[in-house]
Amino acid sequence: MLERIKSRIFKTIKKHKLVENRDKIFVALSGGKDSATVLFALKEYIEKNNINCELKGMHINFCLNISEKIQKIVEKQAKLAEIELEIIYLKDLGIEFQNIIKKTARSPCSICGVIKRYLMNKIPREKGANKIATGHNMDDFIVFFFKNFLNKNFEWISKFKPKIESEHKKLITKIRPLFYVGNKECELFCKELGIEYTPPGICPYTPFKSKKWYEIIYNIEKLHKEFRYQMAKSIASSTRFFENLYSEKEILECKLCGEPTEQEICGFCKLKLMA
Ligand code: AMP
Ligand code: ZN
Repeated sequence: MLERIKSRIFKTIKKHKLVENRDKIFVALSGGKDSATVLFALKEYIEKNNINCELKGMHINFCLNISEKIQKIVEKQAKLAEIELEIIYLKDLGIEFQNIIKKTARSPCSICGVIKRYLMNKIPREKGANKIATGHNMDDFIVFFFKNFLNKNFEWISKFKPKIESEHKKLITKIRPLFYVGNKECELFCKELGIEYTPPGICPYTPFKSKKWYEIIYNIEKLHKEFRYQMAKSIASSTRFFENLYSEKEILECKLCGEPTEQEICGFCKLKLMA
């Protein structure tokens, strides 16, 4: 089973050219099983194929009660993989997560998303990386697909693919090596290799995050073998139909920080103004 999982990840990396010579890739490590799987799979692929590619980890410490515990686990993963780790403390950037969520009607998940997307682009780019690897997995993409499709949010679906090439000099390429492996597979990967990871539900803001959609897709798979894998393949083949549905939004540079954004002031700076 472990070999099958690795082979699927390696096939994805090869087919979509996720790793190339002279790449410098940052792996966004949350402490969870998915990003840990990305780290160890990328490392093995690079070593096996003798690729001239530098791998580094980055972790955003949200400076909450649980953050120290999470950081320790990320540090253990990085040590085991023998990679350097960049840690970003939100407080050092003038962001107090707990204060911000009190001041806005937006959900903690959406605030967290703004922060992560911003830093997962800015930090690696400033440190000379050309790619960022995340642990978004096959199950996540299938669930996002159903949710977005039901809400007629077709534009987002165009981004559901293993690689999003940079479209702007300040945007780095995003890679998702787990596009064809899901939660079950990543759990098995980490357990078989003895990699410690944070338990699901550790986030204090979403401990009871709805698992409904994940249950639905696993239930379908009980009746239809390989449902998730087939679905992921179909999503990847259909994304092009969802591209350019609406008029292209121009990528601007934030008036305050200079980072790429579609608005005058980026989402991250707006949060900082709130703090
Ligand atoms: P999530 O949005 O929490 O499902 O996370 C998606 C991906 O973002 C993870 O698989 C990681 O690659 C990355 N990520 C999430 N949280 C962090 C964090 N605190 N620091 C660095 N990367 C993160
Ligand atoms: Zn900004």
